[in-house]
Amino acid sequence: MPPSQDKDTVSYDLIVLGSGIAGLAAAAAAQKDGKSVLVIDKGERLGGRISARQKGRLTFNHGAQFFTARGKKFATVLAEAKHAGNLKDWQISPNKIVQIGTPSMLNFPQFMALDIDIRQHIEITNISHLGSDIAFFSNTDLIAKGRQAIITAPAAQSALLLNDIYPKLAETAQLATYDPCWTVMLNLDKSIELSNESYDGAYPLRDEAAGIGFAVPEQIRFARGSLEQDIQTVALTIQASGAWSRQYLQEDPKFITMQLLGLWANLKGHSRPTVLSATTHRWLYAKVTDAADIDAPRQSNDGQLAIAGDWLSGPRVEQAFDSGLQAYQSLFKPR
Ligand SMILES: Cc1cc2nc3c(=O)[nH]c(=O)nc-3n(C[C@H](O)[C@H](O)[C@H](O)COP(=O)(O)OP(=O)(O)OC[C@H]3O[C@@H](n4cnc5c(N)ncnc54)[C@H](O)[C@@H]3O)c2cc1C
Repeated sequence: MPPSQDKDTVSYDLIVLGSGIAGLAAAAAAQKDGKSVLVIDKGERLGGRISARQKGRLTFNHGAQFFTARGKKFATVLAEAKHAGNLKDWQISPNKIVQIGTPSMLNFPQFMALDIDIRQHIEITNISHLGSDIAFFSNTDLIAKGRQAIITAPAAQSALLLNDIYPKLAETAQLATYDPCWTVMLNLDKSIELSNESYDGAYPLRDEAAGIGFAVPEQIRFARGSLEQDIQTVALTIQASGAWSRQYLQEDPKFITMQLLGLWANLKGHSRPTVLSATTHRWLYAKVTDAADIDAPRQSNDGQLAIAGDWLSGPRVEQAFDSGLQAYQSLFKPR
């Protein structure tokens, strides 16, 4: 449904801040119910912490690594995305099959975002009441306004935005904590042998005690039969554990790259491979360690604004998804 107009700017039924999974879940539910909805996000691409980068012919999945569903609602969306060709199975250990985006993790948020009005590259710096609406500003520019709003930025960023307008919700956000995550994306030459043989039974490396949260040559995600054409060079993504990332949070990216590559090579029993190129990304708010108190308020007393995000329930994509749906229901379908 199109938003209603007034002399200054259109007014939406719902404005959602954040095009991560929490925001997309809320926006998709609103869209399905025929509401006018706009999503605003400061990032280059939608998806938030579900992300991928292209370096020449190589793709690095440098945010969330895979999806799992315990509840029916998220399982249903995963099944729909899989049916549409955006997800596939991936065996990450002898006993565990998970879902990954194909060709990259970004395909899942892109699937969820179909038909939703989204504006990327806009950082919201202030939220305030404007008449009976909630208005979103970037510095002094009015970006959009809506009768109701859902805020899904990570907790610290939500707290800053909500402090003046809804201080009780800002307090809820101040209770949540995260681990950071240093991630390195390496293009290595073929001095590490990734032959078909070594792929058999190859799983991502996870050794939290040694400092590695998750490390995977991206080619492992492909079907084994297609390896020959995929291994001209190796695209290795290494994510440090939370404790390691915290310890080295302020270090130089070059130091981080060499340390993590050294740890990885050591654990795999390789000599240190030649690095053709390297990029690092420091996620300051990666995985939730303490979610906000279950009894803390998640919706404003006037019923105009709700908060969502993994930090309200836990460290997985599914929990972000559920929180987005719950925020939408609390505003539009209160019990
Ligand atoms: C390295 C890493 C690995 C992970 N691995 C897994 C995994 O394997 N499986 C799993 O289930 N989960 C994993 N997670 C966790 C998972 O990615 C998150 O729980 C989930 O994606 C969070 O979704 P969200 O919508 O709550 O937040 P986000 O995805 O962070 O979305 C919030 C959005 O708000 C936007 N925003 C913030 N402030 C503003 C502002 N002022 N103006 C405009 N926009 C703003 C941001 O740009 C962002 O897009 C991982 C996370 C990381 C970082």
